[in-house]
Amino acid sequence: MSVSKLAASIAESPTLKLNEEAAKLRERGEAVIHLGAGEPKNKAPISALLSATARLNTGDIKYTPTDGIGSLKKAIVRYTEENYDRIVHPDNVIVSQGAKQALFNLLYTLVNPQDEVIILAPYWVSYPEMVKMVYGVPVIVSPGDGSFIPSFEDIEEAVSSYTKAIIVNSPNNPSGAIYPETLISQLVEFCEKKGIYLIMDDIYHKLVFEGKKSPIAYKYTTKDVESSKVITINGISKLYGMTGFRIGWVVASKQIVSVMTNVQGQTSTCTSVLLQAAAEGALNGLQSAVESLRLTLENNRRVMVQELQSFNGVKLIPPDGTYYCLPDFRAYNGKSIELSNFLLKKALVVTVPGKEFGMEGHLRLSYATTVKDVKVGIERIKWALDPESPNEIYIGERKMVRDWL
Ligand code: PMP
Repeated sequence: MSVSKLAASIAESPTLKLNEEAAKLRERGEAVIHLGAGEPKNKAPISALLSATARLNTGDIKYTPTDGIGSLKKAIVRYTEENYDRIVHPDNVIVSQGAKQALFNLLYTLVNPQDEVIILAPYWVSYPEMVKMVYGVPVIVSPGDGSFIPSFEDIEEAVSSYTKAIIVNSPNNPSGAIYPETLISQLVEFCEKKGIYLIMDDIYHKLVFEGKKSPIAYKYTTKDVESSKVITINGISKLYGMTGFRIGWVVASKQIVSVMTNVQGQTSTCTSVLLQAAAEGALNGLQSAVESLRLTLENNRRVMVQELQSFNGVKLIPPDGTYYCLPDFRAYNGKSIELSNFLLKKALVVTVPGKEFGMEGHLRLSYATTVKDVKVGIERIKWALDPESPNEIYIGERKMVRDWL
């Protein structure tokens, strides 16, 4: 087999791999608890299903314009106005197969070989790999120990004449942290001045807790979308728990959207009209679906925080949003891949190693599951790690024998 050096250098998505491993274990009848999931258990909103069904019933399922159907783009324009207080034109919007493809297309459109893209740790696993896939150079900026948010000074220091863009994800996957307003306002001002793109991955922006809000970058620029360096990525996957529908979008200048449309036209043509209809239904339907998901997450998060705070040795900064938190397990083991494998084998609990997100010694735990799974999952992790625990327990029919890490 002879594959390209670039393709061979791209890492497998660790989160998708874990999903597959968990599914295999479940198929074998193992009582595995999945605290690695990046999707909630809700059903898609009824308005999304009705809209997709109505489209399907027409039998008219054909190509659409590459950048998305007009009615969906209109719904996104309205969404942008309502949630970001920004009036944009449909030509400022391109619909892609999930925020993932949207971001890849965007990076492909912006980055020249050797251009640098600043990625703030902890970061979503796909950012560095995507930057590499467009022959760019990922530059990781990590926060000081004990925090999840790099300082403005550290970010500024990482900027060079090759810096093309900075990616910000708030609230953040994996930490759940919301970036402070001051940092976002500093970054917007800095990027506008230096001509660096500020890519805001806002995919979790409404899934926030205890009355907190994630900053809106547009608020801090006086420029309109045509001349601003702020670009927003969004989608329905996390907001409505519609991960399988694969719809995401970018809001950017007409020029960027038009080049992205050429790129998408030569690669995927368009996203499925059926799935675009579903997204339109979700965006135009009752938004109580989002609030009900947010409330479920807020409740699960409360249970997860309680369980982890009573866990001696584990340090936690409670998450402000998203589906995740990122506790520090260094008191038990500083090598997160080893720890995660140990927990899967010994406690049948799926976790995601922090190393994959640029935060070694931590584990990403998802509360986008049931309260029961959160409770039992953390209990099992405690059992596996606490030296005072009994040596044997039963998980279902299976006798689990503890041994040392
Ligand atoms: N950005 C972040 C931060 C994410 O966590 C994810 C999904 N896990 C995505 C983008 C991609 O989302 P989508 O399902 O819309 O491709």
